Parts: sequence; structure tokens; C-alpha cells
Amino acid sequence: MKAAQARTKRLLIRCGAAVGIAAALLTAGCAERLRLFEARLYAMGTWVDIAVFSSEDTAARLFEEAEAFLRRFEVDYYAWADGELARINRELAARGEATAEPAMAALLREARRLTIASEGAFDPAVGALVEQWGFHSAFAEPAPPPPEALDAWRRSGASLAAVEIDGVVLRTTLPGLKLDLGAIAKGAAVDRLVELAGRHGIRDALVNAGGDLRVLGRHRGRPWRIGIKDPRADGVLGVVELEDGEAAFTSGDYERFVDRGGRRLHHILDPRTGLPVEATRAVTVIAQSGVVADAAATALFVAGDDWHRIARQVGAEAALRVDAEGEIEATESMRRRLVSASKDEWDVIAES
Ligand code: ADP
Ligand code: MG
Repeated sequence: MKAAQARTKRLLIRCGAAVGIAAALLTAGCAERLRLFEARLYAMGTWVDIAVFSSEDTAARLFEEAEAFLRRFEVDYYAWADGELARINRELAARGEATAEPAMAALLREARRLTIASEGAFDPAVGALVEQWGFHSAFAEPAPPPPEALDAWRRSGASLAAVEIDGVVLRTTLPGLKLDLGAIAKGAAVDRLVELAGRHGIRDALVNAGGDLRVLGRHRGRPWRIGIKDPRADGVLGVVELEDGEAAFTSGDYERFVDRGGRRLHHILDPRTGLPVEATRAVTVIAQSGVVADAAATALFVAGDDWHRIARQVGAEAALRVDAEGEIEATESMRRRLVSASKDEWDVIAES
């Protein structure tokens, strides 16, 4: 997740007539009783696009609830805002103990499981490190921390695995531990928006947070089609079809980075070295939930050559990785899903 920005723009596009700050008209599909409605909301530093096949009333209600949800979520789940996660970090720093809201506690328990399963390649306890690099804020200029700071980081043992989570109570003996949910928050938000759509009785939907997405049902009678972005060029590496409820998340080095003497300093850090990962350009994971896909994409990005083993451990059955040389590797399950033929036929692009 990029730096939280409080601005949330909202755009409701109706069939055949655009309302609000209209950008496009979606006229296809209007013959059906269930029509396609789209909203575009700015949250978590990115555009969140929601597309649903529904009645107009249902879509309007959903979009309103989605906006209220995102406004709260981007504050509560961003470590450098003044919400729930910031409070938890303050309390852990002050007393080594904090009580989380049930939804936050559930996400932290899942994040802890994925930290252990990924052998620390994904680890939300990187908050202090992310801050030292300047990747916590869109306004900070990223730069390498001094060597002493990196040494101190490597000695610190900071890990979510070192936080005991007992129901909603978190405890740690590690001083200075700072949780950053940036690698999993978009996954959690997308999951909750998809659940919300389901609660409104919507069967066919797409929730797309800046190229990280999850679908419900189908798109006009066929599976939703996702183009996987080429990390170094316009266009896609391939097109895959998603089943009902599946998520596709991408971690890449091409979205947030600065160039320093030919080295690409980007925002995905190896918690073990404290440095930006250089072995990978991009990873896309398809999984049953946004949270797992998001955490797994980050984990496999960091895992480097070990990525097949870590993929099995985190349950990322379908994954595609582009390494530093541009070589593309995919798991068997991902290869089976690639609908090779027409590369220009996709509904949405999966990108970092
Ligand atoms: P994106 O934000 O482009 O979707 P990720 O999902 O991989 O990419 O999340 C990257 C963000 O997660 C970083 O900006 C940082 O806040 C945090 N982060 C960086 N490295 C790690 C890591 N190894 N494990 C967990 N979180 C990380
Ligand atoms: Mg991620």
C-alpha cells in the first residue's frame, strides 16, 4: 500500500449515463435487468475500481458502503496514519502489549501464519526498516539508511513471529517493533469489499485496487480475464482466467522506486538483509483470498530462487515470477490457466 491519502474520489457510472466525474460510459450489457455499474474510489494511495452486475439501487448502496469502509480502513490499517494500527504500534512500543479490534486481530493472526509459512520473506514487522528507507510515505525521498542502522536492524530479530497473539491481545518482548501492513492491506480491503458485494446478493463482480484484484462469478457468461503486466514494457506477459472468488495480486519493482547509480531502490525489502530485493522484477499470485495472494506475492518476490518451496508453504498454487534477467517462470497451475492465444483480450491488467 502506498502512503495513505485522505482524498477519496468517488465516481458512479451508470449504464448509458454517467453521473459524477464521469470518465467513461459503459453501455454494453444494458439490455439485461442486471446491468454493469462501476465506481472508482481513491484510497490507500491508489484507485480502487469496483464493477458489479446488479440493479441500480443495489450498486448505489454498495458503492456508498464501500466508500465509507475504505475511508476508515485506509486510516486504521496504515501504520503512519492516526488509526488502529498506529495505536497498536504505540502500545506495543510503550508496554509490549496491545489489544486489537477483532477484525484487525484476525488479520494479524493470518499475517503471522503467513510470516512463519514464508520463513520471514513476508513479515509485517518491517515497519521500522521501511521508515528508515523512506518508503512509508509518498512525500519521503527514499534513500539507503546508514550501515549502522542496517546492522542494528539485522540484529534486532524484529518479526511478527516474535509477537504472541492470544485472541485479540498482542504481546512482545522486542523493543521498537513496528508493524506495517502495507504488503497485505490491499488484500484485506479487496476481500472485505468482495464480501460486502456478496452480502448484497451480487454474484458477478470485480474489485481492482490498482492492479491487485479479486473477482466474483463471471464476466458476461465467461470467466474474468486478467492480463499479467510485463514489468519492463507496455503490454502483458499472458492472460489468465479466474474462477469465482479468486484473487490475483502482483508485487513488482517497477511502481515505486528511485534509481541510485544504476541500482533500483524499490519498496520491497528482504527482512533478512534489510535491503531492497534485487533478484526479482515481479511476481503474480492467484489464490482463494486477497490476503493470501497479496502476502504470497510479496513473499515470493523476496524468496528469490527459493520461490517454489515458499509458494507451496504459503499455499500459492498458481504463481508467475519474472527474475532479474527477465526470465519468466510459472508454476504448473499457473501455466494451465494461461489462455495463450489472443493476448489483447482481457478485462483488467494485474500489475504492481
Ligand atoms: P505493493 O504495495 O506494490 O502492492 P507489496 O504488496 O509487495 O507491494 O507491499 C509492499 C509494501 O509492504 C512496502 O511498501 C512496505 O510497506 C511493506 N513491505 C516491504 N517489504 C516487505 C516484506 N518483506 N514483508 C512485508 N511487508 C513488506
Ligand atoms: Mg503484497
